[in-house]
Amino acid sequence: KQKGRDHFQFFHPDMAHKALKQFNFEQSIRQALQESDQFFLNYQPKIDAQRSIIGFEALVRWLHPEEGLIMPGEFIPLAEESDCIILLDKKVIHQAIEQLQVWREQNLKLLPVSINISGKHLISGNLVSFIQAELERSGLDGSLIELEITEGVLLTDFERCITVMTELKTLNISLSIDDFGTGYSSLNYLKRLPIDILKIDRSFVEECDTLKEDGQIVSTIISLAHNLELKTIAEGVETLEQFNFLLSKGCEAFQGYYFYRPLSSADICTLLKALGNS
Ligand code: C2E
Ligand code: CA
Ligand code: CA
Ligand code: CA
Repeated sequence: KQKGRDHFQFFHPDMAHKALKQFNFEQSIRQALQESDQFFLNYQPKIDAQRSIIGFEALVRWLHPEEGLIMPGEFIPLAEESDCIILLDKKVIHQAIEQLQVWREQNLKLLPVSINISGKHLISGNLVSFIQAELERSGLDGSLIELEITEGVLLTDFERCITVMTELKTLNISLSIDDFGTGYSSLNYLKRLPIDILKIDRSFVEECDTLKEDGQIVSTIISLAHNLELKTIAEGVETLEQFNFLLSKGCEAFQGYYFYRPLSSADICTLLKALGNS
């Protein structure tokens, strides 16, 4: 049972420290952030109860010239220790918006893209004006952007979080609490935040249909969300049994390898065309 919740499963900070310190991570990522084309996004579809695609989560990858492909679990925690994360988040926002513009030009149906925002960026940067400028530049509506925010930041500066989130809502952006259940959100916190969605962490989804305890946690999260008039999405759905369990509890949206893996933008384009979404 002590498998550890989520992030510990595929990433341990010490491991990345060892591996990445060797090629001077900090300098390497700063350089990469300036040189523009080393980071790219994959998009993992999110689906509804009828299995229709309702949106995508943008997931960043780093194609390092010497190290090869590096997954975010290896560099995001390190980037979060420095200011790099703010630059990286901005790059991701910019690329996701550019991608939406491309899909718009191709006359594909535009579906919301969710972007992971580090807590540091949420409270310290000029996130709101940056996104506002990106939306204005592209002519896209804020409703096409969803931001996924983890619970941790709520503990650091809650009042600031409320302010920033409220400003983001005026841009029509959706807000979700990512990895929900792994942090310390109190009911009082949730009630006071202008959020739309709770994203149930994969670590609870994993055994929701086989472990009574995890099943109860999942159904409690879903009823909690509904009582607060929030929607729920489950991440890391890998089996039909998990999907059926979540459906039976009233979960509205789903994401995971059972449906789709994170895909390249070209694959998403093909997918949208094949689904007759254009
Ligand atoms: P996350 O936000 O919880 O994202 C979901 C992670 O779970 C992704 O890993 C995704 O590929 C993986 N996943 C999706 N479905 C399944 C499934 O059915 N089974 C399993 N075992 N895994 C699944 P990825 O892409 O390696 O991202 C890891 C983490 O890195 C993300 O966790 C997120 O916290 C962070 N991250 C990724 N992209 C960005 C970004 O652009 N900005 C920031 N700040 N963080 C990012
Ligand atoms: Ca996420
Ligand atoms: Ca997540
Ligand atoms: Ca997670």
